[in-house]
Amino acid sequence: MSTTAVAEVSHWVGGKSVEPHSERRLEVTDPSTGAVIRTVAPADAEDVDRAVQTAHDAFEGWQATTALRRARILTRFRELLERHQIELATLVSQEHGKVFLDAKGSVQRGIEVVEFACGAPHLLKGEHSGGVGRDVDAYSRLQPLGVCVGITPFNFPAMVPLWMFPVALACGNTFVLKPSEKVPSASMRMAELLREAGLPDGVFNIVNGDKEAVDALLVHPKVRAVSFVGSTPVARHVYTTAAAAGKRVQALGGAKNHAVVMPDAELEFTADALTGAAFGSAGERCMAISVAVAVGDIADPLVARLAEKARGLRVGPGKSEASEMGPLVSRVHRDRVRGYVDAGVAAGATPVVDGRDLIVDGHENGFFLGPTIFDHVTEDMSIYRDEIFGPVLAVVRVETLDNAIDLLNRNPYGNGCAIFTRSGASARRFEELVEVGMVGINVPIPVPMAFFSFGGWKQSLFGDLHVHGMEAVSFYTRTKAVTSRWPHVDRRSSGLAMPTLA
Ligand code: NAD
Repeated sequence: MSTTAVAEVSHWVGGKSVEPHSERRLEVTDPSTGAVIRTVAPADAEDVDRAVQTAHDAFEGWQATTALRRARILTRFRELLERHQIELATLVSQEHGKVFLDAKGSVQRGIEVVEFACGAPHLLKGEHSGGVGRDVDAYSRLQPLGVCVGITPFNFPAMVPLWMFPVALACGNTFVLKPSEKVPSASMRMAELLREAGLPDGVFNIVNGDKEAVDALLVHPKVRAVSFVGSTPVARHVYTTAAAAGKRVQALGGAKNHAVVMPDAELEFTADALTGAAFGSAGERCMAISVAVAVGDIADPLVARLAEKARGLRVGPGKSEASEMGPLVSRVHRDRVRGYVDAGVAAGATPVVDGRDLIVDGHENGFFLGPTIFDHVTEDMSIYRDEIFGPVLAVVRVETLDNAIDLLNRNPYGNGCAIFTRSGASARRFEELVEVGMVGINVPIPVPMAFFSFGGWKQSLFGDLHVHGMEAVSFYTRTKAVTSRWPHVDRRSSGLAMPTLA
């Protein structure tokens, strides 16, 4: 396909779009048509070095800017994001494929992180104890790290970058973002809005690209911290490589989220919730529900209701108001997901709804796959074991709540999960025992609000600290503990003995 007429996306360094050094080009497609709509210049080590050096040079001035002034710039940025929310959501929907309303909601969740970061003066207050000894006060200061890096996945082109850089900037760091090469445009637009909000040039930079750019960032000597969100194998690579190079790292990985449906669950409400959580964004959410665990005799009616709802979903291009579910992000990914459906059938699961034959009129070259539901799925099947990241829901049948909890706890992922029940006792037992980072009780996608932290357990997170909320403030700062004495009168020093203050 010709790419001569499409715009090229480059890098953002020092407050402007800059010429790429590398001559390679990657294609950005509209998943609903398969057409190439842009090209992106993937950064090489030289492009990366220019961006990191620029961020490094800007650090001294930005660190010295008071938290209140930094917060005021972020407040203006938040206003600009709100004003341009539709434009950003349109870019998200166009390059990712998700339906517009879903894209708009994701931008909103990102704006809420900026709102949180606007509290920088309060968030950075540290601790204080007056009079810990005679004339002695003790306090902590939270200081920035330096150049921080964000590496983000394709599925939330605006929201996931917004999980990272607003808090990093609020804390006084400078930033280099490496967005997914499949969806570069929302990040570039946010860079322009940051400049319009008054952010000094060089404080926020973008290198577009793929593995070559990532690997150069992970070992760059001037990078202090790396935030990553993406698949588990890459998260593991990022964590081990960057940590070995002495960086602070948080690397959020993939997921296989289970929803446990108890026999006393409200059937209609639960089926609606699971339909949205399994097929919203074509299943391309790290918090999507991909396994429904039916406990006891709710299995038959649940599968029947889910099947009816899945068959009724309107699949089409993201920009059409009639569409409830869009295409997958790329042809390669659609074919991979279809391969899993083939494997599920071959392994003996029951395909209650099979989305493989879906054709969307007028969009025959789009990367569509219809909603798919498998019943009688077992733990040995690849459709249960692997993260498929598509509109495929596996139903596993178990006898008791404890069987369900054991199943979740055996699973290597631990991002999100949910329980549907009318029993407080069941909900509490589940919440207490399940080894998963984010738990929903009658809430299918329990994405924490921006003032809580977001992150999974087990192979869904490498590192100690989650994104946004107070854990992000901890991640993007280092603590300095100060012990200060201002005596009224001279006193004798403790000499060479261990000083005791009281
Ligand atoms: P991905 O791992 O393929 O890519 C993520 C980022 O890493 C991109 O910027 C990409 O350019 C880069 N990358 C890809 N391969 C690389 C390699 N070999 N070496 C170095 N860098 C590499 O993920 P994706 O397909 O863009 O996104 C989907 C995945 O992200 C899913 O697994 C999903 O669960 C996960 N995800 C997790 C969360 C979470 O909060 N845990 C949130 C969103 C998405």
